[in-house]
Amino acid sequence: MSDKLDSGEFDDTKNFEEFEYSPNFTAVPEVFHSFMEEGPFSKCTMCDGTLLKDGTPYLIHKAFHRGEVIFEYAMCLPCRAKIQEELSAESLERINAYMDQYHIEDRSESLLAEHGTEVAPWISHCLISGKPIEGEDEYHYYAFCDGPDLVFNGLPMALAGGVDEELNELLSKQTRDRLDGFVDEQFGLPPELRKPIKGSPILI
Ligand SMILES: [Zn+2]
Repeated sequence: MSDKLDSGEFDDTKNFEEFEYSPNFTAVPEVFHSFMEEGPFSKCTMCDGTLLKDGTPYLIHKAFHRGEVIFEYAMCLPCRAKIQEELSAESLERINAYMDQYHIEDRSESLLAEHGTEVAPWISHCLISGKPIEGEDEYHYYAFCDGPDLVFNGLPMALAGGVDEELNELLSKQTRDRLDGFVDEQFGLPPELRKPIKGSPILI
């Protein structure tokens, strides 16, 4: 990962003062639109709560197989908290520890400075393997949004399919079962459009 900041020399506050204010959000781009809704996600996949008002934070996860959407959801933060409560504490800890190695938040400043609010450079490579997403059979896109906007806060990011499996191995059986149930209930696509996928969504 060539764009990694050398954070050893500066602390965050110092770095911050050196940059002029630039917006850290942009209108949700098409790649994070809903395939089902043919436009921005307007409601939470789980609770149907509306999402497009300012001050409504939510996560988007879209999974692709050979360029086709195989599942998608938008999840408001209260629903995310509910799911996390059902997962085992060890699984969440293992996933957080695994993701912490990659210092997701650290990349925001350098990517914003270099590319402004362009989304493509954030999702062009798998965050974990560093390999280009182009050419991967299966990949996942994640974004954090607020109302009509995508917010750059470490996300958006892309993960390649194989990485998904690696993460799934960190999950306890209880968590695995719960997530499989979640995918069955909340695929976000009608059954006729569903395709088998190897892993389930990772909740971040
Ligand atoms: Zn919800």
